[in-house]
Amino acid sequence: MKLAVIGSGYVGLVAGACFAEAGNEVICMDNNKEKIEQLKNGIIPIYEPGLEVMVERNAKKGKLLFSTDIKDTVEKSEIIFIAVGTPPDEDGSADLSHVLAVATDIGRHMNSPKIVVDKSTVPVGTAKRVYDTIAKETSYKVVVVSNPEFLKEGAAIDDFMYPDRVVIGTSDQDAAEKMQELYAPFVRTGNPIIVMDELSAELTKYAANSLLATKISFMNEIANLCSRAGADVTMVRKGIGSDKRIGYSFIFPGVGYGGSCFPKDVKALIRTSSQFDYDMRLLKSVEAVNEDQKKALIPMIEEQFGKDLSGRTFTLWGLSFKPKTDDMREAPARVMIKELVERGASINAHDPAAMDEARRLGLHKHVSLFEDPYDALENSSALILVTEWLEYREPNFNTIKARLAEPVIFDGRNIYKPEKIRELGFTYFSIGRP
Ligand code: NAD
Repeated sequence: MKLAVIGSGYVGLVAGACFAEAGNEVICMDNNKEKIEQLKNGIIPIYEPGLEVMVERNAKKGKLLFSTDIKDTVEKSEIIFIAVGTPPDEDGSADLSHVLAVATDIGRHMNSPKIVVDKSTVPVGTAKRVYDTIAKETSYKVVVVSNPEFLKEGAAIDDFMYPDRVVIGTSDQDAAEKMQELYAPFVRTGNPIIVMDELSAELTKYAANSLLATKISFMNEIANLCSRAGADVTMVRKGIGSDKRIGYSFIFPGVGYGGSCFPKDVKALIRTSSQFDYDMRLLKSVEAVNEDQKKALIPMIEEQFGKDLSGRTFTLWGLSFKPKTDDMREAPARVMIKELVERGASINAHDPAAMDEARRLGLHKHVSLFEDPYDALENSSALILVTEWLEYREPNFNTIKARLAEPVIFDGRNIYKPEKIRELGFTYFSIGRP
């Protein structure tokens, strides 16, 4: 099929590459000229394992093209995916300006009947708004389908190629069949394609992310109680996770969730519900718990070093909001840096993938960035582990001890064993463990 993906970010580029891999002809369009120039030159603007080879392979075959020309992109495509950002507005609702701007562009350049697919995460009712926006500009038939994306950054290719499920929201029979045909190569092992109406599909995405965020905040509250009561949250996690109804995923305590999805989707769902005169009390608490949790290590740092941290340096390992991505949107590390700098501390930091992103965000003005994680420890009062990258899991503790000014570790992801660390002579703090 001839496809277009408008917006070539984490979702658009992965979707475009995977659709091309399945044999479709795909144009990835973006209005960011620099991004498209990079892609044309084989440079992938984001860190996502496996993406570079897939893009290169399909670009070489001519299956994957990159463009800044919306008119040409629309004219050449039968199915057009909208995969632009929907960041939180000031009141927490999803900002639809990019989505609707693209809808207007599509409408203006329609040259035949087309299917337009909302791939971006958008509030319930948006498919209708996108339809109305396009229909204002053209008399060609357009069907707007909601097809939310569930991929995880860091495992995006696998998630797209082997999705747990594909959700297709449309009441148009022909469009539903076309979309099922498009997704058939990705569901060969029996994973379902679930066809439903547009409104339910839109809400499904928010419900999924909000439930996962709820599990995380719930577990963080249990961890906070554990540390007060002297219990060990690791054992509690094993105890409850073994119950099949609960499961082990998303019940790891830590310094909170971040990223481009959970925080904004929880906020947007709260906002949507208020527009329908419904107060989502549970989700408001999920959000509040998470905001506090990003600062969970601060009282421990104050306990060890006092409230005034001026003259001290701390080393952060991990800046991205989770491992295997360079995405720092709403990353707990950013809150941690702000809190420490406010208390007078200097910060050294290392991240295996997010250093360029940190520079792009201007973080290097407050933080010294190091290419080597051990170099970042020099003259530092403590190591603060914020993101559980694989390469931090089995570090050389003797080197850590030798290079830190004081042997203190704050483990925001509970990746080290308390007894082992203490035997090595460290003072060790973690989340919800005695
Ligand atoms: P992103 O910021 O990485 O990419 C968005 C891209 O859209 C950017 O490259 C931007 O230049 C481009 N863009 C903006 N306006 C445009 C326009 N008018 N014309 C052409 N291009 C334009 O965002 P993302 O992380 O890929 O997220 C996209 C959507 O997918 C969001 O709604 C998000 O909630 C959703 N989503 C994201 C993830 C994820 O893990 N990142 C997962 C599932 C769903």
